[in-house]
Order: sequence, then C-alpha cells, then structure tokens
Amino acid sequence: MAQQFEDKFNRKFYYLRLSVTDVCNFKCTYCLPDGYKPSGKKNSSFISLDEIRRVVTAFADCGTTKVRITGGEPSLRKDFNQIIETVAQTPGIRKVATTTNGYRMEKQVADWKAAGLTHINVSVDSLDPRLFHQITGENKFHQVMAGIERAFEVGYEQVKVNVVLMKDLNHHQLPQFLEWIKDKPIQLRFIELMQTGEMDDLFDRHHVSGVAIRNHLIANGWLLKVRAANDGPAQVFVHPDYQGEIGLIMPYEKHFCDSCNRLRISALGKLHLCLFGEQGLELRDLLQQDEQHGELIARIEQQLQTKRVSHFLHDGDSGMTPHLASIGG
Ligand code: SAM
Ligand code: SF4
Repeated sequence: MAQQFEDKFNRKFYYLRLSVTDVCNFKCTYCLPDGYKPSGKKNSSFISLDEIRRVVTAFADCGTTKVRITGGEPSLRKDFNQIIETVAQTPGIRKVATTTNGYRMEKQVADWKAAGLTHINVSVDSLDPRLFHQITGENKFHQVMAGIERAFEVGYEQVKVNVVLMKDLNHHQLPQFLEWIKDKPIQLRFIELMQTGEMDDLFDRHHVSGVAIRNHLIANGWLLKVRAANDGPAQVFVHPDYQGEIGLIMPYEKHFCDSCNRLRISALGKLHLCLFGEQGLELRDLLQQDEQHGELIARIEQQLQTKRVSHFLHDGDSGMTPHLASIGG
C-alpha cells in the first residue's frame, strides 16, 4: 500500500464520497428547488467507469476502505450496477454505500445488492406523504417506502434514512419518526439544514439545530454509541426498547470537522477536500491511463496538505458550493 492519505492536522482519510452524476429527478426545496439544469459547459460529461476504477484504486491504495456513491441521483446512471461492481471489486474496498432518493429502489435494489452494494441511505424528509411531496417536489412517498421494504426483503439488515431537519416543516415530527423505527432496523439520521450558495432565505426560515432532539433523546434513555474509524460524522444513539437507531449530523457544532475522515470526488472528476469551500482540483487528466496511478496519488497528497482545519459555515461562508447535488451531499 502507498502511504495512508493524511492531512497536516493528522486526520486520516478512510472514506471517499464519489459523485457519479449531477442529474436529479427530484426538486428538493433545500437542494434543487427548480430541478436539475444542465450546465451547458463543454466537456461536462460525467466520470466514466474506467475513470471511476482508476480513482477508487488510487484511494484504496492509500487507505480508503469505504466508498459512498452519490450525486445528484446516482441511480439515474444507466450503468449504476456496473459502477457498484467496479467499486466493490477494487481491492481494499470493504464497504460500498449509496445515497439515493429511493425513486428506483423498489425495482432495482436486488440488482444493486447482487452487484456488491453493502449499505444504503435513502432520503425521506417526512412520513406525511403530503409534506414529503411539498419538500421533494415529487408525489413518490409510497414508492420510496416500498423501496425500503424491498431492501429488507432482499437481505439488507439495516437501512439508513436521511431526514433534513426543517423548522416548522418536520422538526416536530420526532414522535412519528420514533414510532416508525421502534420495530424496524432503520437508522434515522437527522441532518441539520446546511446553507449553500444558491439558497435563498430558506436557510433563515427553516434552519434548526439538532440540539433539541439530542436533549430529548438523552432525557428519554437513549445512549450515544462509540464511533468506528471509517464511520460518518453522525452521533448515533441507541435505546433498548427500539430496534432502530437515531443519528444526528450537526455540521454547525464546534469541533464537527475534528473527526473528518472523508474526501470527495465530483461527477466531473474533481477532488474536493470539503463539502464547502473550494472549487475542486482537476484530476481527470490523470484518470486516463492505469500508468498514471503514481502521479494521481502524488497530486491528491499534495492537495491534501491544503485542507483547512474546519469549514466556515458558522460565518455564513458556504464557499463555492451552489447546492449539494453539485458535489454529492
Ligand atoms: N439524491 C440523493 C438523495 O437525495 O439522497 C443523493 C444526493 S443528496 C445531495 C445527499 C443528501 O444530502 C440527501 O440526504 C439530502 O437530503 C442531503 N442534502 C441536500 N442538500 C442539503 C442541505 N442544503 N442541507 C442538508 N442536507 C442536504
Ligand atoms: Fe435530488 Fe437528492 Fe438534491 Fe433531493 S437532495 S434534489 S433527491 S440530489
């Protein structure tokens, strides 16, 4: 193995988030409220299977064990099964996850599993079908729920469900969510709404901290679980009376970035050191031949030394990121 990717703050990187498309068929109010719009730029084709194989091989050689395939909506790629296979067959990669809006899950999740997908996150912002429709722009609540059931049928032991917390929309629906996971092996992950470049006043209207949820959980006997090295940033709580778990992702909390263990590749093949903050470093010219492997690793290592200690979201600085669909939330 080449040297483990590490930054100058001694953070080691085990986890790659790989965006494979910017395209999405939903219109979530906090992400793509007007739907996906092609950039119209020249040479804007999304990263190919060979490019994916080369970049994932470089990361695996430098200590990455987990890859999340994301987007946009990753399952809209026609070669999504081959993408999963390519990542899963890379020596050193032990976990292959995806984050999906669940639109295609009911029909396709058996194939995803067969291709080597080990973990699934699906976004469900409300258990009320009308509110789900209002937030995502799509009347697909029942289809997404059927997809989750199907995932259990084909053998996933746990499904993670992402919920973006929004004041006056879903933040008071905690009792419904808790009821839902009482007897289901679902890890519900409440994500604080993050401000992005193209967001209007939605952030000011709907941002709410996860602290109230955390206080409620602790007061009601939920216990914090210990994190593993390649886990995401969620604080995960468990309870003896519940089969499900609750995760809290609170990027506005102090020290959120201390345990950062992830790097990102955009669908256009750029390296991003953080979800927020920079334009991304071009890697595509080094993804064209297997022989460029060493040069590719050297470029990533060099860039890694410029990773900042923290994002600056607290100061209202969301950097260059227009919305999370652009580099994979
Ligand atoms: N389309 C897929 C989906 O929605 O699950 C994958 C891509 S989406 C960008 C990844 C995750 O980012 C989703 O769970 C979504 O809810 C979350 N997300 C998007 N924009 C966000 C924002 N402004 N703040 C917090 N989470 C956001
Ligand atoms: Fe699409 Fe996911 Fe963004 Fe919603 S959050 S618009 S499903 S990319």
